Amino acid sequence: DSSSGSSGFFSKRTFPGRVPAGIGRKSLRIVVTGGAGFVGSHLVDKLISRGDEVIVIDNFFTGRKENLVHLFGNPRFELIRHDVVEPILLEVDQIYHLACPASPVHYKYNPTNVMGTLNMLGLAKRVGARFLLTSTSEVYGDPLEHPQKETYWGNVNPIGERSCYDEGKRTAETLTMDYHRGADVEVRIARIFNTYGPRMCLDDGRVVGNFVAQVIRKQPMTVYGDGKQTRSFQYVSDLVDGLVALMEGEHVGPFNLGNPGEFTMLELAEVVKETIDSSATIEFKPNTADDPHKRKPDISKAKELLNWEPRISLREGLPLMVNDFRNRILNGDEGKGL
Ligand code: NAD
Ligand code: UDP
Ligand code: UDP
Repeated sequence: DSSSGSSGFFSKRTFPGRVPAGIGRKSLRIVVTGGAGFVGSHLVDKLISRGDEVIVIDNFFTGRKENLVHLFGNPRFELIRHDVVEPILLEVDQIYHLACPASPVHYKYNPTNVMGTLNMLGLAKRVGARFLLTSTSEVYGDPLEHPQKETYWGNVNPIGERSCYDEGKRTAETLTMDYHRGADVEVRIARIFNTYGPRMCLDDGRVVGNFVAQVIRKQPMTVYGDGKQTRSFQYVSDLVDGLVALMEGEHVGPFNLGNPGEFTMLELAEVVKETIDSSATIEFKPNTADDPHKRKPDISKAKELLNWEPRISLREGLPLMVNDFRNRILNGDEGKGL
C-alpha cells in the first residue's frame, strides 16, 4: 500500500496525509519545475483541477507569480522560489521538468538545462518518481528532414549563438536516457514545437507574442529575414493535454508534441492582422544567426501511442490570447518576472 508507511528522505512513494483525488484514484504529489512560466502554469491548473497536489519550483527568471496567484491559498498548491541548478530534497510521485530559460533573449550562458536536469533526475532516482523532460523541436536544429520525425538526429551548430539552448536540451535528453538505462528511473521525453497562448511572455522575442503585442500597441509587426521561414504553432491547452498523456502513458519517447499546421512568418502576420486589427502593418528586420528555415512536426508516433493530437488551429487559438495580452499591456504589466 503506497499510501501508508513512514516518510523520510530515503523512503520511496510513502507520503502520509494524502487526500483522495476522487473515486478510484489516489491524489499524486507532483513537482512542476518552471511552473510559474507560460506552459508550466497552464499545466499546474490542469493538475490541480483534477485533484492532485502540486509543488512548483521556480526562480522567477522568466516566470511570474501572477500566473499562479489564483492558486495561492489552495491547500493542494505550494510555490517554492528555488533555482534548480541547486540541489533540493522533496518527496514526490512525478516530476514535470520545464524549468529553462526558454527564449533567445534569456537562455544564453545559462546552465539550467544541464545542472537543473541532473538535479531533478537525481531527485527522481532517490524517491522513485517518474520524470518528464520538456525538450524541444530545436534539437532538430536547421532540419535536413521535413517534417521532422523523432528518429531524425538533427542538424545543430554546436558553437553558434543558439547552441546553449539546442545543445543544452540535447544534453538534457542524454542525461534523461542515461538515468533511465543506468539507474532505472522512469522517464518521459517530450519534444515541444512552438507553442502560444495566454500568459506567454510579452517581450521575450518569440514571434507570436511579438506580433500580437505589436499590433495591440499599434506598432508594425517585425518580420525577420524575408518572412518565408516556417513554423508550426500549437495552442497551449493542446500541449498540456499531450504532456499529461505522455506522463500517464507507458512510453518513454521522445514524442513530438506540436501542431502540424505550417505557416510562414508572413502568413502568421496575416492571421494576426485578421484576428486583431485589419490596419496592422509589417516591417522587415534582419534575421538572427542560425535561424531554422522550416519546422513542422510529424506527430504520427504521438497519435498512435498516446492517442493524442492537437485540436485547436491557429485561427481558433490566436483570439484566445488577445484579451490576456490586451489586459497586461493596458495595465503596464509586461511580465518581466521577479
Ligand atoms: P517560460 O519562460 O514561460 O517558463 C520557464 C520557467 O522556468 C519560468 O517560470 C522560469 O522562471 C523558470 N526557470 C528558468 N530557469 C530556472 C531555474 N534555473 N530554476 C527554476 N526555475 C527556472 O517558458 P515556457 O514557454 O513555458 O517553456 C516551458 C518549457 O517548455 C521549457 O523547458 C521550454 O524549453 C519548453 N519549450 C517551450 C516551447 C514553447 O514554444 N513555449 C517550445 C519548445 C520547448
Ligand atoms: N539531487 C537533488 N535532490 C535529491 C537527490 C539528488 O537535488 O533528492 C541532486 C544531487 O545533489 C546531485 C544530482 O541530483 O547533484 C544527481 O544526483 P545523483 O544521486 O544521481 O548523483 P550523485 O550525487 O551520486 O553524483
Ligand atoms: N521572428 C520574426 N519576428 C519576430 C520574432 C521572430 O519574424 O519578431 C521569426 C524568427 O526569425 C523565426 C520565427 O519567427 O524564424 C520563430 O521565432 P521564435 O523565436 O518565436 O521561435 P523559434 O525560432 O525558437 O522557433
